[in-house]
Amino acid sequence: MTQLALEVVGVSAGYGPMEVLHQVSFEVPGTSTVLLFGANGAGKSTLLQVIAGLIAHSQGTIRVFDKPLEKTPAYKRVALGVAYMSEQGIFPELSVDENLRLGAMHAKRHEVHERLERAYARFPDIASRHKIQAGSLSGGQRKMVGISRALMSDPKLVIMDEPSAGLSPKYVEDVVHVLGRLREDGISMLVAEQNISFLSIADSACVLEGGVIRFQGTAAEFEGNERLHEAFFGLEGSH
Ligand code: ATP
Repeated sequence: MTQLALEVVGVSAGYGPMEVLHQVSFEVPGTSTVLLFGANGAGKSTLLQVIAGLIAHSQGTIRVFDKPLEKTPAYKRVALGVAYMSEQGIFPELSVDENLRLGAMHAKRHEVHERLERAYARFPDIASRHKIQAGSLSGGQRKMVGISRALMSDPKLVIMDEPSAGLSPKYVEDVVHVLGRLREDGISMLVAEQNISFLSIADSACVLEGGVIRFQGTAAEFEGNERLHEAFFGLEGSH
């Protein structure tokens, strides 16, 4: 049986008295890519931040590679192999190199070098700009920095918040391609998105509506579901 990269069971969370996630359950099987679809305000960012340990949950359990996370602070989740990429993903005032090094804060010096080399081999476009302020790069290049920074901790599971946010369709295509390559490298991914293009590199999809999981199935099942298909292909900016 495939080991689960992530198992979320009955998780509720919110902000003060306002509950935003209601008994959310879903899973990411090992070495697979799961898309978390949902409109603005559905609770995607909240859910990712709960998994990353940045927001506490009031109910339920979260396991990563069979390890329960309840007593694990955010920085220790990185050591367990979980990397989180926020929508912004980078520190714009720092150089590309500094951004990447920050992603490997707990690594040994030789590991940092190896990982930097791997990152620059993977993304030659940012390699040639490694001393430049990340904020001055194009939208697509900034995403590559954000993704590379997440990979610098050598994660087994990457959770990404809307990697397509703010990108033109051409850059979205580039990001989809990059995630497709990471998937081939065997990295498990949970990708929160509103853009249907990401379905092409997903093994399965979950749909979050009003803080409740309404669907989890294969990418083909998602495409075959008329209601979901219409709702998401109809979303503005989804092409
Ligand atoms: P978006 O793509 O617009 O960020 P989302 O699906 O990621 O949408 P969340 O950002 O998780 O949704 O927001 C879910 C709900 O929680 C919304 O009603 C939002 O207003 C609320 N919310 C988000 N962040 C906070 C916060 N820091 N304090 C209070 N409420 C918040």
